[in-house]
Amino acid sequence: MVNMNNAAERLEIISQRIEKARNRFGPPPSEVQLVAVSKTFPADAIVPFLAAGQRVFGENRVQEAKAKWPELRASYDGIELHLIGPLQTNKVKDAIALFDVIETLDRERLAAALADEQRKGAKLPRLHVQVNIGREPQKAGIDPADAVAFVARCRAEHGLEIEGLMCIPPDGQPAGPYFALLAQIGREAGVTVLSMGMSGDFETAIWMGATHVRVGSALFGHRPAPAQPPSPDNGPQEHELQGEH
Ligand SMILES: *Cc1c(COP(=O)(O)O)cnc(C)c1O
Repeated sequence: MVNMNNAAERLEIISQRIEKARNRFGPPPSEVQLVAVSKTFPADAIVPFLAAGQRVFGENRVQEAKAKWPELRASYDGIELHLIGPLQTNKVKDAIALFDVIETLDRERLAAALADEQRKGAKLPRLHVQVNIGREPQKAGIDPADAVAFVARCRAEHGLEIEGLMCIPPDGQPAGPYFALLAQIGREAGVTVLSMGMSGDFETAIWMGATHVRVGSALFGHRPAPAQPPSPDNGPQEHELQGEH
């Protein structure tokens, strides 16, 4: 497991890589927020990162977040929790109560369900529209060609404030062009937040204008396969932490 010292060290290494990427093409336009993706890791694997000062985390399942985070929130101030996995409409109430940001608004029905709760008086989390940037059938998200119109509809018809866009580019292809496309859609849709980039490609995402990067395994180590407990010695290898120079 990642202990206090190496949690701080990993955060420092990733923060330095973020800074370096931001500055690569001259004065950086904005801060980049590190979302530490703690999905599958138990609370005691998260505590060292909280102790080292990290406050923004991502989880991909409502049930899992509900089991882990209320207690962590009671012990640490200023936690900001992002939902980065698919949200079923029957879990919307739970998600509103648990999360500060929902990054996966990916369909009309979900927009309507969120709008419904807002009408009933709920204060909604900040919202990002997920774009299926590589048009992959197995991935969630709005088609890139419909994304600008979807954002406009969320605002005008559902009365939702849309803060940003999120995407997960296809595996095994250079991610840069997909990130550039998301940035283009963001400009057209009038959003300022772009959540893009994971452990393997967050520097590329920052060069293309990411304001949020979602980094899991480079901080927490390799995720165990589902339903297996994390093993103690699965941290990132040195070369994964160093990145390019
Ligand atoms: C798991 C996950 C991440 C983190 O991936 P790593 O490669 O471990 O950094 C980022 N975004 C989403 C949507 C995820 O599901």
